[in-house]
Amino acid sequence: MRKKLFPPRRPATTSSNHISILFTIYVVGCCTFRAQAFMQRVATSIIVKRHAPPITQYSYYPHQFARRTLLMSSLQYIDAGANLLDSMYQGTYHSKPRHEPDLDLVLRRAYDKNVHKVISLAGTIKESEELMELIHNLDSEKKKEEEGVKVFGTVGVHPTRCAEVFAQETSPSTTEEGASWIPKTEQEQKEIIQQLIDLATRGKESGNIVAIGECGLDYARLQFCPKEIQQLGLRAQLEVAIETKLPLYLHNRESGDDLYGLLLEYKDRLCQDGSDNNIRGIVHSFDESIEIANQFLSLGLYIGINGCSLKTADNLQVVKQLPSDRIILETDCPWCDIRPSHASAEYVQTTFPTKKDKQYTRELGEEFCVKNRTEPCHVAQIAEVVAGIRGEDVEEVAKVCCQNVYDLFGSLEKKR
Ligand SMILES: [Zn+2]
Repeated sequence: MRKKLFPPRRPATTSSNHISILFTIYVVGCCTFRAQAFMQRVATSIIVKRHAPPITQYSYYPHQFARRTLLMSSLQYIDAGANLLDSMYQGTYHSKPRHEPDLDLVLRRAYDKNVHKVISLAGTIKESEELMELIHNLDSEKKKEEEGVKVFGTVGVHPTRCAEVFAQETSPSTTEEGASWIPKTEQEQKEIIQQLIDLATRGKESGNIVAIGECGLDYARLQFCPKEIQQLGLRAQLEVAIETKLPLYLHNRESGDDLYGLLLEYKDRLCQDGSDNNIRGIVHSFDESIEIANQFLSLGLYIGINGCSLKTADNLQVVKQLPSDRIILETDCPWCDIRPSHASAEYVQTTFPTKKDKQYTRELGEEFCVKNRTEPCHVAQIAEVVAGIRGEDVEEVAKVCCQNVYDLFGSLEKKR
């Protein structure tokens, strides 16, 4: 069986046209040789393990040469919203162990697909600490091996997790209405804010923490946290953003009007140092109307697009109308995969061979992703869909969106 880890992209430039033609000629020619499967396996293994021989040797294996050249092309992606702490990257799905941890393979696949930088998101104070530790460990390992994805992070509390951080339970969560929560005391709130400020300041100084979040509102999942506590948690984190001068990483589900209203209330304080009167932040995983998008844009915010933002024809119409200098690409991995039933599916050019979580092994991870588990490498598909619906070039979309990330979060370079 023929296995493809890196199917060719639709060519975007003249030089990549040539590469693509060469690649196609080779693949067609190669089909006549029974040794093809073996050669591809060897090639994939060499490329994935990043022990590639000097470029002169690639003339013997044109498909390797093509791949190498693609790696050297200017195409670069940033996945501006990943959840690398998720248990799926440790092989556990819904509390069931399915395979060995493979975060290292996930990041390698990302780098091989030209994803050079990833912003990973935190959902609680504990997760923020764990993420800082993960990034530190990844950076320590990377010193040995120069190439690889640079990972950055956020510090914050997700709206659905605000109850467990900013409130205390007054009735058991086994009741039909869910748990009842009352806010912690004012003194306790102050201490939580200070804890977040300390953590974010430390992370900012290290260069690894680039935003406050995910914070925001989620009215689609009120069973986890009532509106009032979500708003309390958001207000607290707006204080943290004001104090640390870090951008906001905002989550919004069926709560656009309230989120806009709350941000408007804090706008002057959030913009106090900026000359352009824009709130620095992103509303990620955007899936609401163009009217709501325009409200956020009027505050100066960026709009994050992932597979969940591209499910319906209406979603696509919204993305089509967004100004290109305000779009940021993300995956929200391991969630928000693009499915065949989604309106976005017809625009996807790059597909990844997959195995079911139960069948996946580290060895198979050299060639396969896990079915329905997204990874940073899937950000290429988001770029393809955005480019497709807007009638733009994929490479150009990737470039502009990377620039948007830099404009919002800074240069995303590691401190030495
Ligand atoms: Zn989110």
